[in-house]
Amino acid sequence: MEHIIYAENLSHVYTDADEGEVRALDSINLTVRHGEFVAVIGANGSGKSTLAKHFNALLLPTSGRCLVAGMDTKMSEHLWDIRQTVGMVFQNPDNQIVAAIVEEDVAFGPENLGVAPPEIARRVAEALAAVGMEEYRYHAPHLLSGGQKQRIAIAGVLAMRPRCLVLDEPTAMLDPQGRQEVLATVRRLNKEEGITVVYITHFMEEAVTADRVVVMERGRIVMEGPPRAIFSQVERLKAIGLDVPVAAEVAHYLRRSGVSVPEQVITDDELAVALCR
Ligand code: ADP
Ligand code: MG
Repeated sequence: MEHIIYAENLSHVYTDADEGEVRALDSINLTVRHGEFVAVIGANGSGKSTLAKHFNALLLPTSGRCLVAGMDTKMSEHLWDIRQTVGMVFQNPDNQIVAAIVEEDVAFGPENLGVAPPEIARRVAEALAAVGMEEYRYHAPHLLSGGQKQRIAIAGVLAMRPRCLVLDEPTAMLDPQGRQEVLATVRRLNKEEGITVVYITHFMEEAVTADRVVVMERGRIVMEGPPRAIFSQVERLKAIGLDVPVAAEVAHYLRRSGVSVPEQVITDDELAVALCR
């Protein structure tokens, strides 16, 4: 099975009491390969969260289909396997913490899966190590920083041994230090543990580090490709209402005013090197 996530002509229509029908997803075609790190960006209301919720069957397609590791999300007999394959992490760490002690919180998922206690203990230790939070095992989650709480939430998902993590703006409520911790943790899980990552963000500097960037606008995928190919299209991204990484934008305006800067510059370091030439 080459694709862990496969969406084909996937549409989702919400029926809203006030607004009537809202077509939040409009014929999405998207595949995510095993081991990939895909960033999803798009303005507020473009359908990112709706799409993410299809990847572990929290929402079902109105039309089209969504397969997770080959399993159709519409077939209820797959629900359990799908939820174990794809773990979700949301924006607000406080809403994801359920216990008063870190280790109990991380154990909550595997306990619900009926995993035996010695195996749970092993998984808790492993998951906390994977997010660099071993030393907080017996701490109270509510006393941790936002970034640490979000890493505990990720550990709780990891303890269920998912093959794919879908993170919906996991850093939106964090300070710069917390953002950095969470992104570094997720990147490490991808590179070293081979966990597939779908990472929704409105921080362009985070999306720059992905293998592939998917840009959404009004329920559709309007751009898709490696970060360099996406973030060099400064005018187009701005027209969609998105920010551009600062370095990419500076490079763009320098180029327009005749300074020779390569098209491929999208990070601060690359810009510094290009300008020092
Ligand atoms: P994003 O995550 O990119 O901000 P969402 O997926 O949350 O976008 O929303 C996409 C569209 O669907 C928006 O127009 C939003 O108002 C609408 N929407 C989201 N959730 C619901 C819901 N539960 N009921 C009705 N409309 C919704
Ligand atoms: Mg959202």
